[in-house]
Amino acid sequence: MTFSTGVAAALKKVTIRTEAFINGEFTPAQSGETLPCISPIDGSEIARLSACDAADVDLAVKAARASFESGLWSKLPPRKRRQIMLNFADMVEAHADELALLETLDMGKPIRNTRNADIPLVVQTIRYYAEAIDKIYDELGPSPHDAVSMIVREPLGVVGAVTPWNFPLLMASWKFAPALVTGNSVVMKPAEQASLTMLRTAELAAEAGIPAGVLNVVPGNGAQAGKAMALHMDVDAVVFTGSTAVGKLIMGYGAQSNLKRIALECGGKSPQIVMEDCPDFDAAAMAAAWAVFYDQGQVCTAGTRLLVQNSVKDEFLAKVAAVAKSLKPGDPLDENTRFGALVDEAQMNTVLGYIEKGGAEGAKLVCGGGRALSDSGGFYVAPTIFDGVDNKMTIAQEEIFGPVISAIGFDDFDDAMRIANDTIYGLAAGIWTSNLNYAHKASRTLRAGNVWVNCWDGSDITTPFGGFKQSGFGRDRSLHALDKYTELKTIWMKLS
Ligand code: NAP
Ligand code: MG
Repeated sequence: MTFSTGVAAALKKVTIRTEAFINGEFTPAQSGETLPCISPIDGSEIARLSACDAADVDLAVKAARASFESGLWSKLPPRKRRQIMLNFADMVEAHADELALLETLDMGKPIRNTRNADIPLVVQTIRYYAEAIDKIYDELGPSPHDAVSMIVREPLGVVGAVTPWNFPLLMASWKFAPALVTGNSVVMKPAEQASLTMLRTAELAAEAGIPAGVLNVVPGNGAQAGKAMALHMDVDAVVFTGSTAVGKLIMGYGAQSNLKRIALECGGKSPQIVMEDCPDFDAAAMAAAWAVFYDQGQVCTAGTRLLVQNSVKDEFLAKVAAVAKSLKPGDPLDENTRFGALVDEAQMNTVLGYIEKGGAEGAKLVCGGGRALSDSGGFYVAPTIFDGVDNKMTIAQEEIFGPVISAIGFDDFDDAMRIANDTIYGLAAGIWTSNLNYAHKASRTLRAGNVWVNCWDGSDITTPFGGFKQSGFGRDRSLHALDKYTELKTIWMKLS
């Protein structure tokens, strides 16, 4: 079976850049090595990406450092930086359809998601930070009469960003937008499964007026390009979004090299709790399904542990299963598709492996459980629900990063809190209840960076995003994110 829309036809509508973007120019990897870009829609190769390594990272860091030292960007008056960033946002917006299509081709999420969420949110992110930068003041300390103490924020210098493939351009923008507005020069290392939108966006940034060397992109494998960046002696900070395992490596590289600042946004195994006094079971069932099936479960905040009070569990799970069954995997390029492909074959096999393990450890398969649309050549897994999961099982403890719900029963509120916090992660958590005491108590008891009450995934660029425990530290979004990209300096001036 081939899909009617067709990857080949869609490729004609996008501009594909595959080489590193260093000092304002596209440059092949010095080794000449390339990596295949596979579209998970049908498994076809759509491009070959420069496979950068330490030599290319070094070139990009040198360009970033030179641009930083030149002051062309770092010393530009904030209002001027703001204007260029607003131009940049306009450029991304003007190319939104193209970028949405490119993202979908490269990593397989439905075009309706990239068009309605990913790319508009990138534009919003760039605009938000652009607008902030000429409205933030430094501080004066309460100093004695014969002294002035000034507390100022200064850019770090060269910021490296290592980013994942699940929301490729959006996660990248959560890093480059605050890093750029604060005057830093940046080197991006996008995930090798989905680098195309970041490469194209760097070109748009240059066209919008961001000077050469200020925003560089080095595509390539994490173990080469990403590691080289985190070990580089002239990178001042590495900001990372990705798995907890790689986050730990990045911290190690920072320690081994120059004590560069590290900020980590890592994985999750988020609990969504449904109490028997849930105010709206239909809304909760819809939220429980979409909390895991949106973007095929490749969402760091996915509510993969569905904790349901035993008194209502069977009835509630039937509602969630009805939503799951209505979500047929389909062609990501079709406007009507709501559930697309996983990012690549390896990820699909990882997810299928977890599904097998769930069955083997005694969980009860309610729906899904296998590959779908295999005739297409693409990488699809049907929405899957397991009931009868014990929180000790592998599918309740490890991040699957695929469309798999692990439903766990509990008896009372305290039981739910205990199970919810019994995880190494702490990215998100939620509770559905009509009881004001439960709502407040849960909000304070749940150890997670985002807590939702009677909703899932409520969020905005104005609110911080990040994790507790092994979900990382440092926050993206909101004005708090700017702290990561600046050093705090005290200037004490004695008056005579
Ligand atoms: P990943 O495998 O950890 O990769 C993330 C990035 O790190 C990629 O660019 C990767 O390059 C690079 N990398 C891999 N090994 C490296 C090394 N030794 N040194 C330096 N860099 C290295 O994560 P992913 O599979 O792309 O994304 C999924 C993960 O991201 C999930 O765990 C998810 O929860 C997490 N995530 C978290 C958030 C959040 O805000 N908390 C948001 C989105 C996703 P390659 O492409 O070559 O592997
Ligand atoms: Mg790809």
